[in-house]
Amino acid sequence: MTIFSRIIAGEIPCYKVAEDDRFFAFLDINPLAKGHTLVVPKQEVDYIFDLSDEDLAAMQVFAKKVAIAIKKAFPCLKVGQAVLGLEVPHAHIHLIPMQSEKDMLFSNPKLKLEPEEFQAVAEAIRQAL
Ligand code: 5GP
Repeated sequence: MTIFSRIIAGEIPCYKVAEDDRFFAFLDINPLAKGHTLVVPKQEVDYIFDLSDEDLAAMQVFAKKVAIAIKKAFPCLKVGQAVLGLEVPHAHIHLIPMQSEKDMLFSNPKLKLEPEEFQAVAEAIRQAL
């Protein structure tokens, strides 16, 4: 079981943003910006391009709804999207509020947020959904 499957199962806590029968969204614990969210399929697949066409399309539509809510909650130029998957072998889309290209650099220092701040970020996105 991947760490993300354990999060989805509720075995490991997270700051949940959204969920449906196939997908789950929660805050990245090492955010590049306030609102940095991960969208994952409940199906345990490592490489995103191993998902079926239908699942990949549905994941992107789910991510779109979350991205629209992130942009409402955390006004930005655009919400950027990235797929790396170098650390956690469970497919996921990063959604990151950005003001410029530099905001998408994963080598940037990560924000250190207190639990109450994470809670407030997740709540703001949920309210905007
Ligand atoms: P990637 O696999 O896309 O290279 O990076 C994995 C991402 O997942 C990282 O941005 C990392 O901060 C995040 N991450 C790893 N473990 C956890 C975790 O246990 N909880 C949360 N919320 N995020 C995690």
